Amino acid sequence: MKDIELKLPDWYDYESELCGEVHNREDEAFDDQAKSYSGLIKNTPGCSTSACNALSQQLIHQMNVMFPNILVSFEELNVNLNKAAFPYLQAPAKTALAKAIQERGRTMTVNSGYRTIAQQLLLFNWGRSCGYPIVARPGRSNHQSGLALDINDHTGWQPYLKKHSWRWFGPRDKPHFDYVSTGAQDIRQATMKAFQQLWNNNNPGQTLTVDGVWGPNTERSLNESPAYGFKIAPWDEKPRLLKLTTPMTEGSDVFKVQKALQDHGYSIVPDGYYGKGTATVVKQFQENSGINVDGVVGANTLAKLFA
Ligand SMILES: [Zn+2]
Repeated sequence: MKDIELKLPDWYDYESELCGEVHNREDEAFDDQAKSYSGLIKNTPGCSTSACNALSQQLIHQMNVMFPNILVSFEELNVNLNKAAFPYLQAPAKTALAKAIQERGRTMTVNSGYRTIAQQLLLFNWGRSCGYPIVARPGRSNHQSGLALDINDHTGWQPYLKKHSWRWFGPRDKPHFDYVSTGAQDIRQATMKAFQQLWNNNNPGQTLTVDGVWGPNTERSLNESPAYGFKIAPWDEKPRLLKLTTPMTEGSDVFKVQKALQDHGYSIVPDGYYGKGTATVVKQFQENSGINVDGVVGANTLAKLFA
């Protein structure tokens, strides 16, 4: 095979981290109970970024409200996802990944994909006290690019990924690959603007300048943000599809759907998490309503639920 030269774009100046060590630590720290944490980012206990999953999901959705399709899910590809990994990439990176996976014809285990600015702030705040190696300040990590993946079996995957413009980082960070071809864009400002806008929607008395820049006010505000998500959520403006995902979809929209199902007489206790039990009840409702039975809450199901 002809050797392909893979280079990062000129604008690329994200910082690398010791990914292997970061997610070994994340795996050890992973805490199912973290999902019940209902305090502010700055006080988050434990060492698992899963404690801010609800806020992370709001941040990803807010980015897509402001900048449509800036991040797309690759969960439907032939992948095995680590429980803490958000399976999001920029669209051209996902397309290339899909080709590599299809060519090799086997399941790829993904340990880390997109990391939200809230997760990065937690890692940054905790740092060595939680055993994390040096981590980039929020916005600077290469896992905030939407172009990065950490996987298992890097040796086996390398030729397939390389052919489709995914560059292996090298022996210093073995699980890490970056997508380096055309169509990749710098999403750093969009990441910051999404948080600043979400904050402003919820704090009209103390707004931030939506300038896409990480500064002291933005850092303080993110630390003062609820790990369980803001009251005014981005899906109030533009609903998201509710379905079984990794990590589990959670939030006020899930709670409202569960409450509506309960009001319709279904046996369900609203908790805001879209788990298997919720999916089963949604299917029952869809069947009884004569609509497509797929366990996915989209426009048709919402229309029937809130008719
Ligand atoms: Zn990595």
